[in-house]
Amino acid sequence: MLLIPQRLRPLPLPAASTRPHDTPSSPSREPSRPAWVAVLVSLWLATACNLPLWREVMQLPGQGSARGWLFALAFALIVAAGNAALLSLFAWRRVLKPAAAVLVLMAAFGAYFMLAYGIAIDASMLVNVLQTDVHEAGDLLSWRMLGTVLVLAAPPLWWLARTPLRHVPTLRQAGHNTLLLLGAVAVIVLSLLLVFQDFASTMRNQPRLRYLINPLNSVYALGHLATQPLRMNATQLLPLGRDAQLGASYAGQARPPLLVLVLGETGRSGNFGLNGYERDTTPRLSARTDLASARNAWSCGTSTAASVPCMFSHLGRTGFEARSANFENLIDVLHHAGLAVLWLDNQSGCKGVCDRIGQASTGGLQDPALCAGGECLDRVMLQGLAERIAALPAEQRARGTVVVLHQMGSHGPAYFKRSAQENKKFLPECTSNALQECERQQVVNAYDNSIVETDHFLDSVLHWLADQGSQAQTAMIYVADHGESLGENNLYLHGLPYAIAPDVQKHVPWITWLSPAMQSRTGLPMGCLQKDLADRRITHDSYFHSVLGLMDVRTGAYNADLDTFAPCRARTASLARAPAPGGTATGPAPRAPG
Ligand SMILES: [Zn+2]
Repeated sequence: MLLIPQRLRPLPLPAASTRPHDTPSSPSREPSRPAWVAVLVSLWLATACNLPLWREVMQLPGQGSARGWLFALAFALIVAAGNAALLSLFAWRRVLKPAAAVLVLMAAFGAYFMLAYGIAIDASMLVNVLQTDVHEAGDLLSWRMLGTVLVLAAPPLWWLARTPLRHVPTLRQAGHNTLLLLGAVAVIVLSLLLVFQDFASTMRNQPRLRYLINPLNSVYALGHLATQPLRMNATQLLPLGRDAQLGASYAGQARPPLLVLVLGETGRSGNFGLNGYERDTTPRLSARTDLASARNAWSCGTSTAASVPCMFSHLGRTGFEARSANFENLIDVLHHAGLAVLWLDNQSGCKGVCDRIGQASTGGLQDPALCAGGECLDRVMLQGLAERIAALPAEQRARGTVVVLHQMGSHGPAYFKRSAQENKKFLPECTSNALQECERQQVVNAYDNSIVETDHFLDSVLHWLADQGSQAQTAMIYVADHGESLGENNLYLHGLPYAIAPDVQKHVPWITWLSPAMQSRTGLPMGCLQKDLADRRITHDSYFHSVLGLMDVRTGAYNADLDTFAPCRARTASLARAPAPGGTATGPAPRAPG
């Protein structure tokens, strides 16, 4: 805000030209009571700014009947009264206008994203918003957004700006506000009583609706975030895996292990040709016979901010959501074990996961073939990767190295930016970030091209790892953080609350590759992994334990029951114990981490 020093401000006009209660901004308006302004703003919020809600309510079964209309009317009254109850807390002369303006803007932006992408607003969606970087925000901007927000927010903001508020003595204002609050509560109770059965069953069967109630959804989510310190001590970081030791496989190793963890972005398992998609989106990976693709893998969250910390946690989804303090994570435990760890980020950062080891970012690179507009395709992460690894402490590298490559992957809505020209197999592409402006097939085309790009990237990682084979025993695990909606039921993007999110937002690709040296080192033949992982249901809950198991890190934090690779390891071990036909078992003794 620009502050004008007092002496530079224009002098007030002579009082003769104005009436006594006028203010310069409103030459002819009667001042309104704050409580009355609060009521009118509440009505606007409940009607115009809740179009997405009313659109869904109108589609409920039974709508159109008298009972349906009564339900809709009562629901609208409840929403309006809820807004009024909230505004009654702010219905003071100096704070009402800013508070109302903030609520109107929150509701207008919320309504736009609900209409455009079918999103719903909860605490984790707000975390996504707060963690959005400039590039991601730029991907979302569109004329349609500006237009929608203007239509929903400009009329009430204009009216608020032009309406002077009457000065009411404090005690009397407190009385008005209390009356407004009590009146709003009474309206809610009476409306509920009128349609209680329908309301209770609708809210039970359509849990999505409550995330659409604007702007109370955002206010509730903000409150949830603000009170998080009461439920969880966010400043505390509990140690984890400080007992971590390297297992027997490291003793006298010919070459140290080098594991690349590709952390995928917005991968839909069903859109991978490798997983049976009718389009060949993964020509390079499908041509390989040395991969194990887990086709029944499920994410921990529906957004990067929710999934990534949860994947690297030892707690699993339920435990992570209920945690009362933060723990160190997989990256820390690998580090405690004495391994070299590198986090390379081609996206918006590691969401706190790599805080103790630091991260390198490829966002600022200028490669003309792979970078444009301040962003690079994921293959850029392989440029100079060997040098980045060589810069890690030699003592740790001699034991082994884990590298995380955090992809930009298929980050939406600007999918068309996520593939190089050579990988645009499916045309025409939607080239707008306002996805609803495109035909659905064009959106799917652009998304599928981003999977072709990821196919190219993963294949490049595997080639790069093959080149390291003389110095290291190599492996790669690719897992996406969450899936994506591509217009099914008018839903786009991701981030719906887990309980109501469609499967496409939670069903993720999980691809494992082990070099022959790594297969014998870990006792995990690819043939076994391919069979075992093809259809078995696995989740991000097992990511932490699977990586520790693969790297033969022994710690109390490891849980063999959650190690995705444990069944094959056990099978190999029991085969090694069984006498071979015509002789006795030979070869190295089996081992199990943990
Ligand atoms: Zn993500």
